[in-house]
Amino acid sequence: MAWFKRQSGELDPSGEKKIRTEGLWVKCDNCRQIIWKKDLEENLNVCPKCDKHFRIDARTRLAQLLDDGKYEIFDNNLSSTDPLKFVDLKPYSSRLKRAQADTELTDAVINAHGKLNGRSVIMSSMEYAFIGGSMGAVVGEVITRAIEKAGDTQTPLIIISASGGARMMEGVISLMQLAKISAALARLDELKVPYISVLTDPTTGGVTASFAMLGDLNIAEPGALIGFAGPRVIEQTIRQKLPPGFQRSEFLLEHGMLDAVVHRRDLKAYLGRALDFMAKAA
Ligand SMILES: [Zn+2]
Repeated sequence: MAWFKRQSGELDPSGEKKIRTEGLWVKCDNCRQIIWKKDLEENLNVCPKCDKHFRIDARTRLAQLLDDGKYEIFDNNLSSTDPLKFVDLKPYSSRLKRAQADTELTDAVINAHGKLNGRSVIMSSMEYAFIGGSMGAVVGEVITRAIEKAGDTQTPLIIISASGGARMMEGVISLMQLAKISAALARLDELKVPYISVLTDPTTGGVTASFAMLGDLNIAEPGALIGFAGPRVIEQTIRQKLPPGFQRSEFLLEHGMLDAVVHRRDLKAYLGRALDFMAKAA
């Protein structure tokens, strides 16, 4: 029995080491402690030694935030048509098939309807494991439908972002999603339905440049990478070293780009209180 599996495959574009999800033990890439996987899971996938927030998948996120881990999924039948017949190292169509098989999702987001502390909410949860949580036409459409459903039913909306940005294999079609989602959010605002954006590690590119920063409240998990271009790209462009902690949640909070940084164990209670406050204000 192997306790650790050797990693192979493609380079991680974020430059960060992924956690190993198989085996009994996980090594925290922040404090280098070896953690029993079960302890990590019981601690909401936050390192018990140093509080590093590990990435979690879209379904785990929904289960953590919605009452009794129960929710109904909607609009889960859309998948990309590969409009550009795009091929890079391998065809986009085969990347899609692989991601669909690995995640058992049709694309990088799940729309769910459930309760949060007894209040009905609509939640869109992004899946980073699906081509880096990138936003193509399907993610754009699915999130737009969640926004429209929130408006039609006067139900508060929460979007949990975890994304590398626009999906390059869909070219300009993926960029059009920024405008489409932003327009839908503007309509939601006119209907006076609250929208809370939760930014998790990582939230970058076109997702930051559109809906992730358009919440009535924009909150993030500790230590999450949040930005437009990645820090390495900026460093290579301006040929200067960036300050420590640049593009991490705490830095953004300090510079007025976020409303709060909330620990994962407090996230549900925080969202519940915020929705109570918004309901009273309305
Ligand atoms: Zn740690």
